Amino acid sequence: MKKVQHYINGKFMDSQCGEFFDNYNPATAELISKVALGREPEVNAAIAAAKAALTGEWGQMKLNDRIAMMYEIANEIDRRFDDFLEAECLDTGKPYSIARHIDIPRGAANFKVFADTMKSVADEAYRSDTPDGKKMLNYSMRKPKGVIGVISPWNLPLLLMTWKVGPAMACGNTVVVKPSQVTPTTTSLLGEVMSKVGVPAGAYNVVQGKGSITGNLITAHKDIDAITFTGETKTGEMIMDACSKGVRDVSLELGGKNPAIIFADCDMEKAISETARSVFANSGQVCLGTERVYVERPIFDEFVNRLKEAGSKLKVGVQNDESVDMGPVVSAVHRDKVLDFYNIAKKEGANVILGGGAPKMDGKLANGFFVEPTIWTGLPETATVVKEEVFGPCCHIAPFDTEDEVIKMANDTKYGLASTIFTENLDRAHRVASQIDTGIVWVNSWFLRDLRTPFGGMKGSGIGREGGHHSLEFYTELKNVCIKM
Ligand code: NAD
Repeated sequence: MKKVQHYINGKFMDSQCGEFFDNYNPATAELISKVALGREPEVNAAIAAAKAALTGEWGQMKLNDRIAMMYEIANEIDRRFDDFLEAECLDTGKPYSIARHIDIPRGAANFKVFADTMKSVADEAYRSDTPDGKKMLNYSMRKPKGVIGVISPWNLPLLLMTWKVGPAMACGNTVVVKPSQVTPTTTSLLGEVMSKVGVPAGAYNVVQGKGSITGNLITAHKDIDAITFTGETKTGEMIMDACSKGVRDVSLELGGKNPAIIFADCDMEKAISETARSVFANSGQVCLGTERVYVERPIFDEFVNRLKEAGSKLKVGVQNDESVDMGPVVSAVHRDKVLDFYNIAKKEGANVILGGGAPKMDGKLANGFFVEPTIWTGLPETATVVKEEVFGPCCHIAPFDTEDEVIKMANDTKYGLASTIFTENLDRAHRVASQIDTGIVWVNSWFLRDLRTPFGGMKGSGIGREGGHHSLEFYTELKNVCIKM
């Protein structure tokens, strides 16, 4: 049986106590690997190695050499593309067609973009007068923050983990990473990449394990200088609480309940294809995905029918079948959570336009964690599936009559991550975009990313912005030097 190990101080290892937990293929429920369970000895060893590396070979590396190493990491991910692809798809159940175009290329790009960022970091400087008629010069400089705890989720495991590790290491920090317990493999595989390109021991460490055990130990450790976390809002609250001890910085990328607003003057083809992607891609397990769709009344029926048609054409199946559009969800626990929401929607009176349950799959796939692409209409805005994040391939569609009304509906949520607007009227696009309370607004598109732009959520969707120079705010300490001349 394949083992997934910790990567600590440049070496792969099991836990001292020899404990492992099981990792399953979501498409078949078959056991695919045994994963080392990190407890205190492993967490302590990883954090000690990361701390020592700050003043060791890694900490003393020249900026240009560090930047060159970031490009080498990206190049090595590209060289091992097929290994990453296979591992990511087996852990998550997502089709190769998605991971080939999104997850793995972004894993490499996340190192390149922050290498580019570090080449163009500018410091501020002010020359001014002192009260006693002399001159002073103030200038700022950035230092790495120290040992960064990286806690990442299962929906885009390599992409979201490297979105943190890339900037953290480019800024000169060291990292201790705990990936989700259900998608451990690519984080360990990245350890092989680090070894191959000669990243000094201790700069990149991985402790595998569960959130309630290993995650807790990392967030509570006094030598962790800051935590960057992506996951559920409830977990984010707990992590923020842990970071208050010792006044440590925290960056939170959390849940969403993202609205799509479809105006009658939209390009219908575009609105359907982008909304179908944003609802169903990755089996709806994308934090930026749409779960609430608001459609202007004159085109409501047409839109519902056409989204239903797009959803019913999706081929659901196993990850390595190239003709498959949608895989299972990630785990039995998550499948049950999504199906609970599907049942609640029915109980609360939804019209089920499409799906609404688990599909019947054949052969080995009969045990897989599949759910149907699902569309509801007819629910009030207070209904559970209109309020709570489902994180499955589903959406509720409601009609609206005026711009003011739909802006209120879109903003009536505890979340504020992403939104989409479909209209061919440029004035309206700007006007509505400026009034929607989300960190990201896409117009006539979805998940179109320039990695230099600020990424993050408002309200319960998170704290902080990452991307390009914005990531420096979290991954560095800014110091001011004042010289009296
Ligand atoms: P989760 O919160 O259950 O787990 C995320 C990570 O936290 C995992 O590694 C888990 O083991 C760890 N963890 C759990 N409890 C912990 C604790 N007490 N202390 C320390 N670590 C702990 O989230 P998930 O189910 O893996 O991911 C899905 C969620 O992530 C969704 O809500 C989704 O919207 C959100 N998400 C947000 C973004 C974003 O950029 N805003 C991106 C992707 C996913």
